Amino acid sequence: MLPSNIKSLILDMDGVIWRADAPIGDLAATFDRIRARGINFVFATNNGTKTPEEYQEKLRGLGVEVEARQVVTSALGVASLLAGKYPQGTKIFVIGEDGIRVALKEKGFEMLPVERAPEAQAFVMGIDRSINFQKVSEATLLVRAGIPFYTTNTDRTFPTPRGEIPGSGAWLSVITHATGVQPIVAGKPFPYLMELSLERLGTKKEETLVVGDRLETDIAAGQSVGCPTALVLSGVSTREQAKEWNPAPSLIAESLWDLVK
Ligand SMILES: [Mg+2]
Repeated sequence: MLPSNIKSLILDMDGVIWRADAPIGDLAATFDRIRARGINFVFATNNGTKTPEEYQEKLRGLGVEVEARQVVTSALGVASLLAGKYPQGTKIFVIGEDGIRVALKEKGFEMLPVERAPEAQAFVMGIDRSINFQKVSEATLLVRAGIPFYTTNTDRTFPTPRGEIPGSGAWLSVITHATGVQPIVAGKPFPYLMELSLERLGTKKEETLVVGDRLETDIAAGQSVGCPTALVLSGVSTREQAKEWNPAPSLIAESLWDLVK
């Protein structure tokens, strides 16, 4: 099914590799097949809660060996966007978890505790499972004062075994509603994670297939940079929704295995 000109893959994770924590199909066999075809790959995920090393560990537990640099998260994306604009030591107020904190720290930024939020020179928001009124209030004051406002992603929901819970975008809406200001977004459907992935792969966009389970994030992001795209039906979007999507994804497959077998 995979066209012969494809040399590398940019893979989404949730809904492609696993659903919540359950692997989709035989992942070891799927990745053996990808490697046997000589195809390189990176993972590009909007989920910025984990570090690349944590994802590497999780994949290892499912029988798939990858290098940490094969994992591109929206947290890395936002840190790399900021590193292109601000010097090391810039003070940043963050609403977010480890994934984003480690990525910003590695770029040399100083992260402020909530008590020192008014000193921030930039504000970054991701999903934070210990979000509270004080953090949101400080963030609102910063954004209203014109401090640059960045986010990992705008996903409205976050998948769990019991269903969808509020994602980064849902929490973000509190700040955008209170301020009338929209953030700069690193994650899909915006092109930045795709550009970072293409840089790591070193393949041309026409030979790089973007694979995902959501039309409005994965497929839109791939299309925004001119890559061919493949929708897999193992996650959120359905074949019926794909028929309405214009331009249509280049390929539709039941699963990643189905795409590469
Ligand atoms: Mg997904």
